[in-house]
Amino acid sequence: MSTFTEPAPTSTALLLLGRGSDAASEKGVDCPGELPAASDPDLIERARAAKEALGDRLFILGHHYQRDEVIQFADVTGDSFKLAQQAAARPDAEFIVFCGVHFMAESADILTGDQQTVILPDLAAGCSMADMATRQQVDECWDTLTDLGLTEDVVPVTYMNSSAAIKAFVGEHGGLVCTSSNAQRALEWAYEQGRKVLFLPDQHLGRNTAVRELGFELSDCVTYNPHKPGGGLTDEELRDARMILWRGHCSVHGRFTLDSVNEVRDRVPGVNVLVHPECKHEVVSAADLVGSTEYIIKALEAAPAGSAWAIGTELNLVRRLAHQHPDKQVMFLDKTICYCSTMNRIDLPHLVWSLEELVAGRVPNPITVDADTARHSKVALDRMLALP
Ligand code: SF4
Repeated sequence: MSTFTEPAPTSTALLLLGRGSDAASEKGVDCPGELPAASDPDLIERARAAKEALGDRLFILGHHYQRDEVIQFADVTGDSFKLAQQAAARPDAEFIVFCGVHFMAESADILTGDQQTVILPDLAAGCSMADMATRQQVDECWDTLTDLGLTEDVVPVTYMNSSAAIKAFVGEHGGLVCTSSNAQRALEWAYEQGRKVLFLPDQHLGRNTAVRELGFELSDCVTYNPHKPGGGLTDEELRDARMILWRGHCSVHGRFTLDSVNEVRDRVPGVNVLVHPECKHEVVSAADLVGSTEYIIKALEAAPAGSAWAIGTELNLVRRLAHQHPDKQVMFLDKTICYCSTMNRIDLPHLVWSLEELVAGRVPNPITVDADTARHSKVALDRMLALP
């Protein structure tokens, strides 16, 4: 079977986020410590030694989109939901080192005990999608809906990929959190509570689930732009819509296009196109299969030898799948590189630095959600966990 073909480099793939930016933002701030050089040949040995020294006091979580150099040290790998559950299932671990992004570490902090500390090896590892919905913007949107007399009818639902402040808003207003695996069940629950949903912050997951899984028309959905008065919508549009989609998106999955799907179908007859539901509706509609990262991993495991797959999700995961399934032809759906730039902020030097700080008795980059926000967020997370 052919080997994995690396996509071409692109100047926009690794967006320069982070360093020195807003501390209140998912984009984070500078790393406060002295990082070891990336060229240090002893990094792997240093990580191993620090991990061994910390023993059971330490639990390392690794998101599927992390680099291989980091994933090799993870005690558990998974998507954001599985990792949050795993963090909660380890009450004896004093330190949870979360190799993922900021909102995931927040969820882990909410779900773990007070005696545990969640650590993000680089505070600049945020999520551009989570940054697209701030609490102030969402409060303003709710005020607009209140002025129109609609809020009695509206149930807010937020994707896991949102800040704790947004999860708290949803908890306070009778809504729940969802993941890409349970978005359909979460929306069905929401429509049992009210006539409309305000879906935050990923318009694509909301639209794809409403149209593909719930049988809505595209015209049942409107997109609320937080940068325009009234979301850029008329009162009538807001009144008529069944689904009010927040105008947010994933900068990684948003890059896949219908052209990429058509091109790979022309080039590789019989190819299976498998994409994440954070992709645009036209891409999802043209794909053969759609699902979360866990779904994508299982689909590849179940695929017959010799089958061909073009996968539309983050490049680190697709490359790992290609190496794990040498008997199948695994391709990246886009022609150019498409990493999650913020996930990639966590590298081996940051991991080594965090672990060695812990060994030295210092706690680097703890992620702490304030008690009020955590309480309301947990209401929204618990409603999700209680879904049938
Ligand atoms: S892949 Fe997209 S949604 Fe996931 S962390 Fe990166 S920017 Fe956020």
